[in-house]
Formats: sequence, C-alpha cells, structure tokens
Amino acid sequence: MSHIDTFNITIIGAGVIGLAIAEELSFQHERVLVVEKNTGFGQETSSRNSEVIHAGIYYPHGFLKAAFCTDGNTLLYRLCRERKIPHTRIGKLIVATDEEECGKLASIQKHAEGNGVRDLTLLGKKQILTLEPEVVAKAAIFSPSTGIIDSHSLMRSFCVNAESNGAIVAFRSEVTAIHNEYGSYELETNRGEYRLRTKLLINCAGLYSDRIAALAGIDIDRHGYRLKYCKGNYFTASPAPKLHHLVYPVPPENTVSLGIHATRDLGNRIKFGPDSHYVDEIEYTIDEGRKASFYHSIKKYLPGIKEDALHPDMCGIRPKLQGPGEPYRDFIIQDEKEKGYPGLINLIGIESPGLTSCVAIARYVSSIVSQYF
Ligand SMILES: Cc1cc2nc3c(=O)[nH]c(=O)nc-3n(C[C@H](O)[C@H](O)[C@H](O)COP(=O)(O)OP(=O)(O)OC[C@H]3O[C@@H](n4cnc5c(N)ncnc54)[C@H](O)[C@@H]3O)c2cc1C
Repeated sequence: MSHIDTFNITIIGAGVIGLAIAEELSFQHERVLVVEKNTGFGQETSSRNSEVIHAGIYYPHGFLKAAFCTDGNTLLYRLCRERKIPHTRIGKLIVATDEEECGKLASIQKHAEGNGVRDLTLLGKKQILTLEPEVVAKAAIFSPSTGIIDSHSLMRSFCVNAESNGAIVAFRSEVTAIHNEYGSYELETNRGEYRLRTKLLINCAGLYSDRIAALAGIDIDRHGYRLKYCKGNYFTASPAPKLHHLVYPVPPENTVSLGIHATRDLGNRIKFGPDSHYVDEIEYTIDEGRKASFYHSIKKYLPGIKEDALHPDMCGIRPKLQGPGEPYRDFIIQDEKEKGYPGLINLIGIESPGLTSCVAIARYVSSIVSQYF
C-alpha cells in the first residue's frame, strides 16, 4: 500500500484568515498543515486592501461581521501591542458635505451603539477644520478606535508562531481534488503531485473558497455559496493632501462599499479608494478611466484636490456573496457536518472586515474544532 501523510487539521489558504487560524490551532493541536498555492503567504486579498482596523460601525445588528469586527478590533490592538506589530490608532472622520448627509450622522451613531461601538462623537464645522484643515464638511462623526495596521507584519507573526508551534506551511501547493472519506478527507495537490489525508479540513481559500467547497462535493448554488467578484481600485495623489486621520464620506445607500475614502498608510502615503464594481474574472489591472469618478467623489470633501494629481495605485477584489442589487450577506463560517461533511469547515465571503476580524474568527473556528478532539 502506498504511503500517505496524515494530518489532524489541514487549512487551505495562507491569507490572514488561514494563518490566524493556523496559529490559534497550533497552540492546542499537533499535525496542523497549511497548504497555499502561491509562493508565499498573503499574496491575494490580504495584501490588496485598505489595512484599516475597523470599529464596526455599519454592519447589521446580529451579523457575524458586526460581532467579529468589534471583538476583533479589541483583540487586534492588543495583539499588535504585545507583538510590536506596526499599527496606529489614527482615528477616522465620517464627513457630511450636505444637509441630507448631515441628517444621516445621528442614525449612523445610533446604529453603531447597537453594535457596541460607543466611542463615536459628533463634530461641527470648526472642530473638523481644527482636525483636518484641508477637509471641508458641514458635520462629521469621529471614530477614535479606527486604526491602520501593517498587515504583512501581522501575517508574518501568525506564520512564524504557527511554525514554531510545529505547524507546517507548504507553499506552491494548490489543492486540486478533495475526496470525502466519511471521517477524513483525502486531498490532492498540484493535480496529484502530492496526496494527504486529514481529519479536519478548513477552507480559507478567499476568492476561491466557493470552488474549494464545490471540490469537496457541496452544491454551491443550492446553498448560496457561489462568490461574485467585486473589484475595488485605489488611486494615489501627487501632490498629496495633508491628512492626519482617515477620512470617509457618508456611505452610499448601495451597501456594496463604504464610499471612496482617504486612507493613510504607516508610511504616511495617502491613497483613495476603493471604489466598487462587479467583474467576471480575478485579474488586477486598474482602469485609469475611473480617475474622473474618483475626482468627483473626493473633491466633495477635499475641494483642493486636482484631477491630474490622481494616479492609479492598486486594486483588490472582494469575495462577495451578494450580487449587484441583492440583499447584504454575512460571512459564512460553517461546520458542514449536517450536509454530510463532518469536519469540513467552510469560510466563504470573508470580505471586509475580515482583516480586522481575523483573531476573533480564529477563536471562533477553534471552538468549532475543539468539538472534534
Ligand atoms: C479592496 C479591499 C479593501 C479591504 N479593506 C479592508 C480593511 O481596510 N479592513 C479589513 O478589516 N478588511 C478589509 N478587506 C477585507 C480583507 O482584506 C479580507 O477579508 C481578508 O484579507 C481575507 O483574507 P483571507 O485569508 O480570507 O483571503 P486571501 O488573502 O485571499 O487568502 C486566501 C488564500 O487561499 C489561497 N488559495 C486559494 N485557492 C487555493 C487552493 N486551491 N489551494 C491552495 N491555496 C489556495 C490563495 O492563494 C490565498 O493566498 C478589504 C478587502 C478588499 C478587497
């Protein structure tokens, strides 16, 4: 009989979610494996985002997104302090530029309180100018617990800790087949180059997580697991406005994105975005033709910006469960035993606030895993 390696737990995907889970599980379990198709960790959505530690203001009450974001915010700041991961509690302004938007601020604050975010304050025109001399707005909300983080350092820390606890992180290993052996899963990587058996299988494959669920045998259309890709482009500005906080508009009604905002990274670089539009393919070219729409959105709160100062920067793709015009969806984090797949844990639709939520999600998945040991 040919030899096959066996693991207790296999995690597909070395993005921020897979790595956070790997570290958490590596403290309690032996024979933990992470398989990643790329040559290193975090080369997809986890390195194509705004790197914002969100406070949890907008998510619908009772959603996993709301609970994981608020818990994750506290947990992530604590972890950053303990491990000296570069981050700043920079604070964010949500700025209202007309009367209609001003009318929405109080209800945004009330909604946030329902999610446990009680540190928001309302600011008038003068206070805004003191905080941000280049921003013009009639009123704003200030969120002091919104911050920014070096997500690469965060992922490296998860990866190093998982490995030093004995977990294996295997790069260049694309899962290409999954066989349900009823009690364990047999996986093929790189079309049969390597085979392994695992008791538990955790699907953290980001934009490909619906395909992994389908490979395991789940009917992704019947269960509403099929992902839609929603691209978000970023532009930089040169010369850049001087901003001291993150500046967001009052979000549009469509709930697909938070509107084109200004973020500052830890190197003090200002970038604007992301916008949002659905695409059919995963590819990362940036359409320069979007510059005009960026300019029109930004100049509402930064009237000093010049259109020709804007330059395409980067883009990311949101793994969305809702298509255009469809109702807002929550993260799927599901032990599939009731579908006949005991020990298969799917994480699908982990869009924003996935980065903020990573430690909270890892703890939640760990509580599911503990039922099997
Ligand atoms: C434009 C944009 C802005 C965002 N801004 C923020 C923000 O400011 N704050 C915040 O909290 N969140 C933000 N997010 C969300 C956040 O980036 C994601 O929730 C998070 O990065 C998801 O991490 P992940 O590990 O699930 O996915 P990924 O980082 O995509 O990792 C999945 C991994 O699985 C691997 N994989 C896929 N298929 C296979 C296979 N068959 N075999 C082996 N490996 C496989 C991939 O190669 C990849 O490395 C943003 C997202 C976008 C798109």
